[in-house]
Amino acid sequence: MSDSFDLIVIGAGPGGYVAAIRASQLGLKAAVIEREQKLGGTCLRVGCIPSKALLETTELYEQSKEHFAERGLIAGDVTFDIPKMMSHKDGVVAQLDGGIQGLLRKNKVERFFGHGKLLGQGRVEVTTESGAQQLSAKHILVATGSVSTAFPGMEPDGDRIGTSTEALSWPEVPTHLVVIGAGVIGLELGTVWRRLGAKVTVLEYLPRILPGTDSQVAKEAQKILEKQGMEFHLGTKVQKVSSDGKSCTVEVEGADAIKCDRVLIAVGRRPCTDNLGLDVAGVVCDKRGFIQINSSYQTTAAGVYAIGDVVGGAMLAHKAEEEGIACVEKIATGHGHVNYGAIPGVIYTSPEIASVGETEDALKERGHNYKVGRFTFAANGRARAAGHMEGFVKILADAETDRVLGVHIIGAHAGELIAEAAVAMEFGASSEDLARTCHAHPTLAEAVKEAAMAVDKRAIHS
Ligand code: NAD
Repeated sequence: MSDSFDLIVIGAGPGGYVAAIRASQLGLKAAVIEREQKLGGTCLRVGCIPSKALLETTELYEQSKEHFAERGLIAGDVTFDIPKMMSHKDGVVAQLDGGIQGLLRKNKVERFFGHGKLLGQGRVEVTTESGAQQLSAKHILVATGSVSTAFPGMEPDGDRIGTSTEALSWPEVPTHLVVIGAGVIGLELGTVWRRLGAKVTVLEYLPRILPGTDSQVAKEAQKILEKQGMEFHLGTKVQKVSSDGKSCTVEVEGADAIKCDRVLIAVGRRPCTDNLGLDVAGVVCDKRGFIQINSSYQTTAAGVYAIGDVVGGAMLAHKAEEEGIACVEKIATGHGHVNYGAIPGVIYTSPEIASVGETEDALKERGHNYKVGRFTFAANGRARAAGHMEGFVKILADAETDRVLGVHIIGAHAGELIAEAAVAMEFGASSEDLARTCHAHPTLAEAVKEAAMAVDKRAIHS
């Protein structure tokens, strides 16, 4: 094994391993350092993928309970087997981990197992329980991601009080689950356990759910989630969480404490920079701990770059991937680009919530002159046939140029539908472009076309 490379990537999450593969494609001798046995980072091990496995499985269960009979399907008494559900989820993760290992081998990216630490002057130390090894590289890319955060008084105990990691593997369904934080993680994992029978109470500090999401969409989401049985306490500040090993007590400001048997702390994530040697290497972080970079992903230390959650911005796997590719392309060719205005976001509740571009709130706040077109799924034939009538598509376009500024979808398969909007925005499309593009019938995507037509008040089916 060599110990000298063109590029060493610390962290094999979606940002890091993708960057290493792209580097190899561009002729750089690349290596990744990862301390976990499995590759793929938070996203694959304890994030996007395992949560989607549980969301897909529990959605099937809920469909069978709530919607089979009305369509003439008789399934009897469908029950579930948590260990099997978990082993299916773990199997999906293992398969994809194997896939990444194979991709690294195919692309001749060397993998080092252990904790990576910057030593300065292009050197990196990799430490495992059995010892340390030094490597050197012309370029070093920090892609170490983020970890769950908690406030003093609400530290996870690895058992009854957990973060998203523990909530993906609880051995039984909580009777009463209190979720702290009505963000993406709280609502996705709250949905998993609610579908399996838990009473779910979400405590949120702000007066609304899903901060940063278009507020009209967030309101609709709250209405739908409440109808499904999720309970929200907004404007609620949690002060302390404790557990006696069986039950938990959640103390909130100005109200009675809440008793429950499990707590999910979902109040955000912080950059993962612990013991990385940033000081030694001269890498500076901002006040919130994110590594400071310039537009070429260069840190304050020569030859050291950073991408993904550890540099801040949207904490999304696909944003990290784009940054990883752009960073490496800049290193190898001098050119690389990420269009931060066209990065979609998806929340995998039921229905899904997806968006790209500006929210209506942001446009209003800026005093931007815009037009809006909306179309509800209740008026879409395919949505009716599938029994997915909730939600709508909203398109925001510039009042003068008609250029699409933002698209927001709450509805079934919104996460797939948003790709069309992202492509449109990447190509600088107008709402007229979307409205005049022929969409197959009957599809949910017709709702996107109709919303685009509604921008000029000419939707046909509303
Ligand atoms: P978040 O920032 O999305 O939401 C945290 C919520 O907790 C906020 O609404 C905040 O107001 C609230 N909060 C903070 N302190 C509180 C307190 N003391 N009491 C009550 N409420 C409090 O964070 P998250 O849901 O933990 O997600 C972390 C990151 O991971 C986000 O950036 C998210 O985008 C990303 N993520 C994305 C996906 C996806 O794309 N589907 C899935 C999971 C996570």
